[in-house]
Amino acid sequence: MNAAPADQIRLLDLQAIDSKLDQLAHRRRSLPEHAEIDKVTADHTALKDLVVAAQAQHGDTTRELTKAEQDVEQVRTRAARNQQRLDSGAITSPKDLENLQHEIGSLAKRQGDLEDVVLEIMERLESAQTRVTELGARLEHSTVVLNEAEGRRDAAYAEIDAEAEKVKRDREAVAAVIPADLMKLYGKLRETQGGVGAARLYQRRCEGCRTEFSITELNSIKAEPADKVVRCENCSRILVRTADSGV
Ligand SMILES: [Zn+2]
Repeated sequence: MNAAPADQIRLLDLQAIDSKLDQLAHRRRSLPEHAEIDKVTADHTALKDLVVAAQAQHGDTTRELTKAEQDVEQVRTRAARNQQRLDSGAITSPKDLENLQHEIGSLAKRQGDLEDVVLEIMERLESAQTRVTELGARLEHSTVVLNEAEGRRDAAYAEIDAEAEKVKRDREAVAAVIPADLMKLYGKLRETQGGVGAARLYQRRCEGCRTEFSITELNSIKAEPADKVVRCENCSRILVRTADSGV
């Protein structure tokens, strides 16, 4: 392949631009915020699950308390009714009186037991409420941390993208004047050679793979016409000869 020496040198400019774009893309992918956001998101999701579970626990305990309080109320009503009957003097049979007094006694005992149950549930409800509040505060904090990390990531994105836009405009200008066949070869080599398709020959070395050429190799490169597109024998990249190539 042949190409004007000036176009070959432009290829080095294009390579510098493409390497810059690759660096920017790499920087975008490897922002420290990514790992941070992943970790905070995982914590945040786990916390949300815990909050939901704690709220459910609180709801269950609240219903349990209502039920236990109703049980106490029922027994209290029944005991009051019995007491009323006893106080009314309407019951005269000693056997009936004894039964009634006995029932009043059992109801008092039952009420005491049920009130203990209510107290025990109230304690659990308080713990459940504390846990909901605590987890809620932690979730809120984790939301702040997450938003903050996402904000930093987005700011970094914006900065990188703005710079990339500028570099892309430079690229368009440079690429527009390079012949199509040379662009195609460069593009293909960039794909297979880790993003570097064109390298300068400098101080007897290919700057793509750092191979140092022997005098014989250098002489044969030197013998090629200036518009011949020379390739590195080692890495097959386009080897661009410039004024300071030493050939
Ligand atoms: Zn090379």
